[in-house]
Amino acid sequence: GHLPGRDVVGEAVQRAHEDFRLLDEGEVIQDVPALADADPDLFGVALVHVDGTEHTVGDSGHRFTIQSISKAFVYALVCQEIGHDAVLAKVGVDNTGVPFDSVLAIEHNEGHPMNPMVNAGAIATTGLVPGASRDGRWGFVLDGLSRFAGRDLEVDEDVFASESKENERNLGLAHLLQGHDRLSGDPAEVVDTYTRQCALLVDARDLAVMGATLAGGGVNPVTGVQVVDPSICRDTLSVLASTGMYERSGEWLFEVGAPAKSGISGGIVTVSPGKGAIGTYSPLLDDAGNSVRGRRATAQLARELGLDVFASL
Ligand code: GLN
Repeated sequence: GHLPGRDVVGEAVQRAHEDFRLLDEGEVIQDVPALADADPDLFGVALVHVDGTEHTVGDSGHRFTIQSISKAFVYALVCQEIGHDAVLAKVGVDNTGVPFDSVLAIEHNEGHPMNPMVNAGAIATTGLVPGASRDGRWGFVLDGLSRFAGRDLEVDEDVFASESKENERNLGLAHLLQGHDRLSGDPAEVVDTYTRQCALLVDARDLAVMGATLAGGGVNPVTGVQVVDPSICRDTLSVLASTGMYERSGEWLFEVGAPAKSGISGGIVTVSPGKGAIGTYSPLLDDAGNSVRGRRATAQLARELGLDVFASL
């Protein structure tokens, strides 16, 4: 099936913003000093069709750091580069059921990180980024995520510095992975690249464009560039379905019915294969680290617009 017509979708996007704009549940993340001051009133919703049609409302042009949402796109780029099986040998594709920064994501499974969408598995994935030098490896990530967004992304240096300064947990995860022979590359460099990828600035519209690229077989709907192959989109979306919303992924799949990825600054991208994607931003998070308004707005849109991949009608 297709998305409904332009007017119907535009009106639904407006309403999803209006209905949850004043919802005052959740908390701005306090663990990262540079993110703690985010304005809790900010709320943006964007929907981009695979044909490039766009709908944006509210603060959909407000930039924030992509954080964990980067994990989905780096995973796709690495799978494209070294192949599904080589990635699978290093990082599994299952939910860990524990918070995103937990060491259990490694120890649970005899040192094999199971879940590329929490920190341990994402750090292992960033360790697989190809390149002859440190700059080359960072360039692979920066160029790749920029191709998904269809514009040149930039790092928020304040957030990067703030997260780099208090990175003991992620460094610990990297060293533990290395101890299990599960990290390619130097732990300090890999964590630096991972922290930088998390600090890339995007807005809700960028997220919708990035998601619509995965929805459309890897073709960016704005630039027309083939960023990854259709089979890589399929692999990435199947991983997001079970892991994209941390330990609430099952609940999300039940409620929304479409693969998605969230990040602690308040973004969510939700992908409806063959149709398009929704990007939302609101920094008020639930206790798993998922944006509350983003979740509610996305669930409403999924129902109204038929984005649920499990619906028969
Ligand atoms: N940069 C954050 C971290 O590594 C990203 C976590 C997230 O968005 N869940 O802890």
